[in-house]
Amino acid sequence: MKNIKEKKSKHHKYIFVIGGVMSGVGKGIATSSIGTLLQAKGFSVNLLKVDPYLNVDAGTMNPTEHGEVFVLNSGLETDQDMGNYERFLNRDLTGDDYITSGMVYKHVIEGERALKYGGKCVEAIPHIRDEIIHRFQYSAKINKSDITVVEIGGTVGDYQNIMFIEAARVIKVRHPEDVIFVMVSYMPVPSKLGEMKSKPTQNAIRQLNSYGVNADIIIARSEVPMDHKRKEKIAVSCGVHTDCVISAPDIESVFDVPLNFEKDNMSEILMKSLKLKKRPSARGLGEWKKFADNVKSVKKGEKEVNIAIVGKYFNTGDFVLTDAYVSVLEAIKYSAYSQKVNPKIHTVNARDFEIPNPDYSSLDKFDGIIVPGGFGESGIEGKLNVIRYARENKIPYFGLCYGMQLMTIEFARNVLNLKDANTAEINPKAEHVIIDIMPDQKKKIAEGNYGGSMRLGRYEARLKKGSIARQAYGEDIIYERHRHRYEVNPEYIEKVIAGGLIFSGASPDGTLMEIAELPRGEGIGQHPFFLGTQFHPEFLARPLRPHPLFSEFIKVAVKRTRK
Ligand code: GLN
Repeated sequence: MKNIKEKKSKHHKYIFVIGGVMSGVGKGIATSSIGTLLQAKGFSVNLLKVDPYLNVDAGTMNPTEHGEVFVLNSGLETDQDMGNYERFLNRDLTGDDYITSGMVYKHVIEGERALKYGGKCVEAIPHIRDEIIHRFQYSAKINKSDITVVEIGGTVGDYQNIMFIEAARVIKVRHPEDVIFVMVSYMPVPSKLGEMKSKPTQNAIRQLNSYGVNADIIIARSEVPMDHKRKEKIAVSCGVHTDCVISAPDIESVFDVPLNFEKDNMSEILMKSLKLKKRPSARGLGEWKKFADNVKSVKKGEKEVNIAIVGKYFNTGDFVLTDAYVSVLEAIKYSAYSQKVNPKIHTVNARDFEIPNPDYSSLDKFDGIIVPGGFGESGIEGKLNVIRYARENKIPYFGLCYGMQLMTIEFARNVLNLKDANTAEINPKAEHVIIDIMPDQKKKIAEGNYGGSMRLGRYEARLKKGSIARQAYGEDIIYERHRHRYEVNPEYIEKVIAGGLIFSGASPDGTLMEIAELPRGEGIGQHPFFLGTQFHPEFLARPLRPHPLFSEFIKVAVKRTRK
């Protein structure tokens, strides 16, 4: 193949994505889709998320309030949008692609305490603003990208994100040719009027203008497509070109968003606004389109696979939220789509299996059961009961992190007969602490350093020949992302293995158990798929690269459907 020499643009380009009118209209997907489009045009893109809260990272936040905590290779605990970015770009992001106000303020204040400001008065402007600018630029540099797309969390008018918009404004003042602003706004269609209203968007733009910033492109989210007349109205009132008003109606699948943007020539408009030249190496959107089309045809098809997620983070008030497990849901979908079966995902509340005589037969309708990651005591006995049922009734079972620890405990209790087997997280005084904290971790907790006591991020594992895991990955060595404090207690490893559970993955030094599985089969002590991972495979599942373990789980689950 000819080696095409790319002409690097002289300047790094920035696209700042800001929300207008209200949150929750898909700013993260819009940002991810912009990334997908520019990547398809041959540019190297990095996506950066700004969360204006004061938490230093997302690790300490409750999933029912904030959704999933997404972990990067670096171990940084971030917002779930970062998961969308990685999935849409089909590549790993760095710890420098995520910024919170907490991170920025902490850094500046620590600098002040360390006398780094030479006796000056340390202030939000310039010091906080400049630290933000520095971080935007640093992330661009580390990624060696052509374009950085920054999503500023929240909505224009929020008090919390002003400093980030100000930092973006200053970069624009310094490099007017290299920076554009995209507003993702909302155009309501009030049912009584039946007409799309543009006033809230006009007001949002006015608010942005009051910061000294104008939008170059407006993505108009709405239930229905926007007509030309309204595009013109928005264009005139908001000071953008009509072509730069992109209609973004609700669509069936988020994977269609990049393709839908292209109907309004989004990538051409972005390139034109940033004065970017066409790249000869542009791959185009072919692969993405193939994936998105397949999703649609699978959804219309008849073949289904029914997967239950047994969790506890579902209920907030009257609403059932699956946000806490979004990467797990996505991982299931990609593997199912690639096997041309429509995934039907059901949420099962673990607490329903803690009452006397739970209705276990309600689990029979599932082709596979997943116990995902979690923390603390609530719902644990229910999960253990479900795992036992899945093991004894040969329902494909996949345990993720806590789900692997609990499957080991269930095995110890009911197969090895170690009746009070438990994890130190719940009962450190149990006679058989099967899941325990490692000595160096104990020290950190004693010092009150809870954050620092977690195993976070990417670690290597070695796989056992002949195991389901080894077969699924097709590799001897794998790298997966972790987020947990506890591990299989080394004192019990021999006993558990002797009882028939296989540890098919372990850390390179052999001390930490990474994957547990039962031998495949229908006989006693065997199971079609009873496997758990200490890591979180869901973080590495991508639309264009389904995760091998999820794919294997779905494959076995589909066989059960056919039975
Ligand atoms: N609570 C368990 C631990 O800390 C599992 C964590 C998880 O599932 N992410 O080890």
